Formats: sequence, structure tokens, C-alpha cells
Amino acid sequence: MGDGRDGWGPSTAMVHAGTMRSGFGETSEALFLTQGFVYESAEAAEARFKGDEPGFVYSRYANPTVEMFERRMCALEGAEAARATASGMAAVASALMCQLSAGDHVVAARALFGSCRWIVEKLLPRYGVATTLVDGTDPAAWERAVRPNTKLFFFESPTNPTLEVIDIAHVVSVARSCGARTVIDNVFATPLHQKPIELGVDIVVYSTTKHIDGQGRCLGGVVLGRQDWIDEHLHDFFRHTGPSMSPFNAWVMLKGLETLPLRVARQAGSARAVADFLADHGGVSRVVYPGRPDHPQANIIPRQMSGGSTLVAFDVAGGKKAAFAFENALEIIGISNNLGDAKSLITHPATTTHKNLSDEDRAELSIGGGTLRLSVGLEDTEDLIADLDRALAVGGRP
Ligand SMILES: *Cc1c(COP(=O)(O)O)cnc(C)c1O
Repeated sequence: MGDGRDGWGPSTAMVHAGTMRSGFGETSEALFLTQGFVYESAEAAEARFKGDEPGFVYSRYANPTVEMFERRMCALEGAEAARATASGMAAVASALMCQLSAGDHVVAARALFGSCRWIVEKLLPRYGVATTLVDGTDPAAWERAVRPNTKLFFFESPTNPTLEVIDIAHVVSVARSCGARTVIDNVFATPLHQKPIELGVDIVVYSTTKHIDGQGRCLGGVVLGRQDWIDEHLHDFFRHTGPSMSPFNAWVMLKGLETLPLRVARQAGSARAVADFLADHGGVSRVVYPGRPDHPQANIIPRQMSGGSTLVAFDVAGGKKAAFAFENALEIIGISNNLGDAKSLITHPATTTHKNLSDEDRAELSIGGGTLRLSVGLEDTEDLIADLDRALAVGGRP
């Protein structure tokens, strides 16, 4: 058994960290698809419940397969503790709700995944938590939003869908100066290319549905942070509200982690080539790719990201009509709102993931009729570029 020794590189850790072998000595992690656990005696049950004896009690609280996944995620993230959840949204909702009370105030970047924005704008105010949405790329906006009761700063970077980059160290310093905690949704950067805890962030959340599964199978999420924060805030909330990850899904995620470094390196490399191709194409009016020198926050990226994104945002000239014609002409790249899959997927945010925003809100996020978000998969780069080229000949002309 090992939790990831100091000095292990990320690829070694993703294959070995957190492994707990049963008495059979299996090579692949065992799938403990069980709800509960039996005790040798009534006294043993009593001791387990009192916490006098280590061991599992019920899979809503903890399960050996799920714990292996949590330990491997801690090794990857450099976190002290984690809780795996049924979905990314269960992770976000738990991370926020477990530490907020009526009368608190939250500052969040307005460029958020749709359901995250719903929690901040619609759900938290129903429980007496005030929220302020800011332009996360404007450093002064974070300071201006602070109130005496500000408890939490919440943001993503790069953002969905237009891949803007928020200065993580700056947000952390503003939060610290007013005694607030920071929560980052690190899905778009991946745990390999951005290490929020090293930058001072308190709590990191993932939808493991995306790159961590990486092959479009299971939903999942994870919340990572300091042991004392988990003990004080998340532990009881998690046990009693039940957002737990299924052991089966944890087993799939463990297998996903084994190949995560290979997949992310390959997908980010392809995404860079695709972004360069699109930037040179006359039918494309804008390309945003964290990793290209023309990215709007290119000066911040080297301070917080060690690799490029697996996603590319771009606008086809000719608005919605051209964007739809382009999408419909694609043969390899699928039309889907999902991302981080082995299969390349494209979405038109204005009519799908961001359809519930007002025209004004969409304009603030620079989501136009021609805006598309491409998640680059594991296909041959040349085949993807050929698919895009062919479809742009149909849809990408003004
Ligand atoms: C997908 C996603 C979520 C939600 O995750 P689910 O697993 O679908 O619940 C949250 N944040 C970001 C940035 C995402 O991409």
C-alpha cells in the first residue's frame, strides 16, 4: 500500500498511489461493490462506531475502492484529504454549501459552468447567502466586491466556454486579506497542468466526468483540501446529505487516472495544433487558446499553468447560421456539450450550455452566434484538422 511517496513523478503516482490490496494480492484495484460491512462481534461494531477501531461502516461514508481513488487524487493534487462525489455538481454544491450560512457573502467570477452559476445566482440567495458576480479577469473587481461578511471566493480558470484566464495568486491574496477562503473549479486546466493548492487556493473541485474518466463513461466529482477544513466543514455535511461516489464509478476513475498524464499531454498537443490551424484560417474570426501568445491573458498563463488546454474556443465568421452549417458538416468531431473525452466534441454555447443566460450576459462573456467550444480528443491530429478544414469550407465563410 502506498499513498504516493515523495519524489514520485505524476505518471508513477497515477498508476500506484493510494493502492490498497486485499488478501488476494490482485494487481488491478479491487472493486468493492458493497453497501455495508459486517463486524465480527457486537463489541467490534460498537468500537467501529465509536471510532475506537479503524475500518469501514457504510459506503455513504467511505468505501475501500472510493478511498483508493481519493488517495490517488490527493497524491496528484498535493492535497491532504478528499471526498469523492457522485458528479461534478455534487462536488461544487457540497464544497460551497458545507461552509456557508445565512448572512454570509460569496464573490464569484461570472464566467462559470452553467450549473455553478445557477447555484451562485439562484440557490445560495434562497438560503440567505448574498452573492456578487464579477469580471474575474479584472483584478480590481475582486477587491471592489469585498464586504465585511465575505466568506468565499469561487471561480474557474480557464473559464467555460471562452477560456479566459483568471490570476489565481491575485484572487488568493485578496481573499486572504479579508479572511475569506477560495474554491476553484479546476476542470478546464486539469490537475496536471495547474496546481491550485501550490498557488494558495484552499479548496479544489473537479468534475471527474471529464478528463479523469476521459472516456465518456461515468459521472463523478471530487473535493480536495486541508484535513482540518474537511474535518470541520465537509465531513458531517457529506455523511448526512449523501453525495457519495459509487464504488463502481470510483473503480472506473482509478483506471482513468492511470492513463491521465498520457491522454492530457496528447490532447493538449493536438489542441495547440488545431488552434494554430484555426487561427490561420480565413473563415475563423477569433481563436482563444491558453498556450498561444495571442491569448488575452498570455502574461498570466506561465505563472499558473504548466501546459496548454485540451479545449479551443473560436468564432466562425458569419454567426449562428455559419456555425450550425459548420457543425453539421463535421464527420469525426461529434456535436455534444460534454468535454475531456477521448472523442473530439464540439458545442455551440449560445444555444446549449449557455442558452439560459440573457443576451446581455452572453455578450459580457463574449459568447456570440459564431462562438464554438471544441474539446480535442485522442484521434490523429491530421484527421481532426482535415475534418475542420472540410467543414469550414461549408460553414466558415462570411
Ligand atoms: C462538467 C463540469 C461541471 C459539472 O460536472 P458534472 O460531472 O457534469 O456534474 C462543473 N464544472 C465544470 C467546469 C465542468 O466542466
